[in-house]
Amino acid sequence: MSDPASARTTAPARAQKIVLDIVVPCFNEEAVIAQTHQRLREMARGINGARVTIIYVDDGSRDATMTRLRAIAAGDPDARVVALSRNFGHQYALTAGLDATRGDAVVVIDADLQDPPEVIPRMVERWRDGADVVYGVRSSRQGESAFKRGTAHLFYRLLQRLGDASIPADVGDFRLLDRRVVETLHDMPERDRFLRGLVVWAGFRHEGVAYERHARAAGETRFPFRRMFSFALDGIFSFSTVPLRLASYLGFTASVLALTGIMYALYIKLFTVGVVPGWAAQWIGTLFLGGVQLLSLGVIGEYVGRIYGEVKRRPLYVVGERIGFDRDA
Ligand code: UDP
Ligand code: MG
Repeated sequence: MSDPASARTTAPARAQKIVLDIVVPCFNEEAVIAQTHQRLREMARGINGARVTIIYVDDGSRDATMTRLRAIAAGDPDARVVALSRNFGHQYALTAGLDATRGDAVVVIDADLQDPPEVIPRMVERWRDGADVVYGVRSSRQGESAFKRGTAHLFYRLLQRLGDASIPADVGDFRLLDRRVVETLHDMPERDRFLRGLVVWAGFRHEGVAYERHARAAGETRFPFRRMFSFALDGIFSFSTVPLRLASYLGFTASVLALTGIMYALYIKLFTVGVVPGWAAQWIGTLFLGGVQLLSLGVIGEYVGRIYGEVKRRPLYVVGERIGFDRDA
């Protein structure tokens, strides 16, 4: 995928001395966060010429995560904490973290060490060779249920079939973004934040690095099926109008069927003497039409609901506290 020759001619030369920001969203991660920080710091020592700032976003944790983060920030001059005022959700925590960055490149990584930090130096290398977005491609997923792997597989394929943007499969939010991409994301204030899609929309030069996704180092997934499902709907509805069209097709098919039915009924009424074999047909028709109408209404409702959320123009997140940023000055 990477062609170093063309990288040199097309991409801007990247400085050897850089500031790299790492954004880590945390929601109830008390069990793992100290270990995560240690791993990130160890990894950072392996990147030449980079000053690595780690920015933790506490997404309204209800356990001791914040206490741990305070301790981390106190002991590390290059650690920052953005504490949101409540739980806003993963994609919003990421947004808050990205908005707090200033580095030449930004890496986004989960707090639970499922995505190994050791991949980051490889991402930085690709970036130095000219890539603007370097995403991690999960070549395997360990410690996740067959159900989660199955639904994830299905979701990515569905998204690719329906979506307008070509969102790569098996790619999570673990990735490196060039400053220009981060700025572009900042200029995209839409509410239904499916960052992976937004990054594709933003353009620039994308590359992937393969890695193995591990099991969580500690704690449990914060995405039970219900949340995963609603996240999947966000991904599909904010990047595709195919469901709307589907509703139209269904409506069209139903209308054609209904028209045939009407003609048949008229024929019976006008040209035969009586036996109206209508009861079953009536019921089937009514039920079918009712079903199609409700379904179409639901699909339209999905979009109307999103428009409603969008027009309120609320901020995407609220910051309760910022720790360590005065050191930037
Ligand atoms: N997370 C968050 N806010 C939430 C839920 C999760 O910031 O409301 C963080 C969480 O702490 C972790 C990342 O998002 O760093 C991914 O969450 P998780 O590991 O639970 O998701 P999974 O890997 O199971 O998809
Ligand atoms: Mg995880």
